[in-house]
Amino acid sequence: MLFINGSWKKTDEKETIYNPANGEAVGEVFLGGTNETEQAVTAAHDAFLEWRKTTGKERAAFLRALVSELDTHKRAIAETATKEMGKPLADAEREVLVAIDYLEWYAEEAKRIYGEVLPPSDPAKQLLVIRQPIGVTAAITPWNFPISMIIRKLAPAVAAGCTMLIKPAPSTPLTAVKLFECIERAGFPKGVLNLVHGDAVAIGKEMTSNPLVKKLTFTGSTAVGKKLIEQSAEHVQKVSMELGGHAPFIIFDDADLDNAVAAVIGTKFKNAGQTCISTNRIYVQQSVAEVFSEKLAAAVQNILVGDGMNQDIDMGPLISTEALDKVERQVKNAVQEGASITSGGAKTGEPGYFYEPTVLSGVTEEMTIATEETFGPVAPIFIFETEEEVVQRANNTSYGLAGYCFTKDMDRVLRMMHQLDYGMIGMNDPAIVVPQAPFGGVKESGLGREGGTSGLYEYLEEKYISIRAVSALL
Ligand code: ADP
Repeated sequence: MLFINGSWKKTDEKETIYNPANGEAVGEVFLGGTNETEQAVTAAHDAFLEWRKTTGKERAAFLRALVSELDTHKRAIAETATKEMGKPLADAEREVLVAIDYLEWYAEEAKRIYGEVLPPSDPAKQLLVIRQPIGVTAAITPWNFPISMIIRKLAPAVAAGCTMLIKPAPSTPLTAVKLFECIERAGFPKGVLNLVHGDAVAIGKEMTSNPLVKKLTFTGSTAVGKKLIEQSAEHVQKVSMELGGHAPFIIFDDADLDNAVAAVIGTKFKNAGQTCISTNRIYVQQSVAEVFSEKLAAAVQNILVGDGMNQDIDMGPLISTEALDKVERQVKNAVQEGASITSGGAKTGEPGYFYEPTVLSGVTEEMTIATEETFGPVAPIFIFETEEEVVQRANNTSYGLAGYCFTKDMDRVLRMMHQLDYGMIGMNDPAIVVPQAPFGGVKESGLGREGGTSGLYEYLEEKYISIRAVSALL
């Protein structure tokens, strides 16, 4: 179902969504295209004319109402997400809690959208900056975090006073429908939040070519992001892009190796490696490489793979047969080029798209896995000798989203935080995502930030006003 202007809409076309863990049908969804998107834009535009007049306090109340709905229905939302995209149920429930965290934070910030008073160059003048909602915004989201990726866009947009239409990923529309059932019950005015689903290209075209849409926010692959940036040029539409990553994880010889292993397990195998901040390259300093590799291979044995609906599962399937093929291809290429498999290295569990948690050693920069984003449970180990060398190798990529570094040397922490060309650095810390922090990348990993005050400013336009006293000096 699509949710446009406060009501659910059916269309003539329907699609079945299948569970990647077992191939079973999860449910059906109606598909829309250009017309439905245009209707959603019109609804969001009409709603904006009133919504823009609301106070931060009023908008905060809607966000809190949504928090309460998500809290009440978190189990049902999480179950839908697990069935649609495979992650363990406990992780899906945690994702709802993360979404709630973002909603609460932005509900609080909605009341703190301040302007500025600037010192004038002429005493007869008063110089002001006010921040106004940008208008109708459009969001395109991926399947790997089918709840929190929507909320990370929706929460600051609502807090800022914008309206929004959202296109979820083709594999996870039913989770988005569950979310919109909560939005409906939370009582948002009609047209403030709209859900369109269906033909991605047609929806994306309408979102970028309709001049009423003032901003596009996208999370997905760099290739699609680049296309959308091109399309957004037509009306000089503002864009936020959260694109691919190829996170290095650097382990120096003075690091706490057990902590580093636990952090690699978390950043590499959570969500079966299908996150844009997943560790993609593990750089271990020569003198500790052997012991680290042994510890990692042992820890990987404890990862329980299976259907996310079963209890105690640590890792579910990959999202699709294409995703599985990509991982197989990367591993095969690495082995052909001289890498060796320390753990895993094969798919399991047909008809689900399962791949064993895999560790590769002896990986070099020439292999495909060193440059192509993996999006799978494969941990390639590279060996380095000096700090200077590892900085150069870690930065030698067109991506720049997240990087991780483990060391106990304080001076090195300071050097590394400045030298790594990434938007986010986890320094002895694998768990970097919090609502108050700006999430985003440099280079081809994106434009703009989500989360924190920066994430709110993405939905606000600054207006500068110079007021001159007509006769009297101030
Ligand atoms: P992934 O490989 O993670 O699926 P994509 O970048 O292909 O990443 O997809 C992310 C989101 O972008 C999804 O919602 C998808 O439907 C959407 N998308 C893909 N191609 C286009 C396009 N040409 N225009 C607009 N949206 C698109």
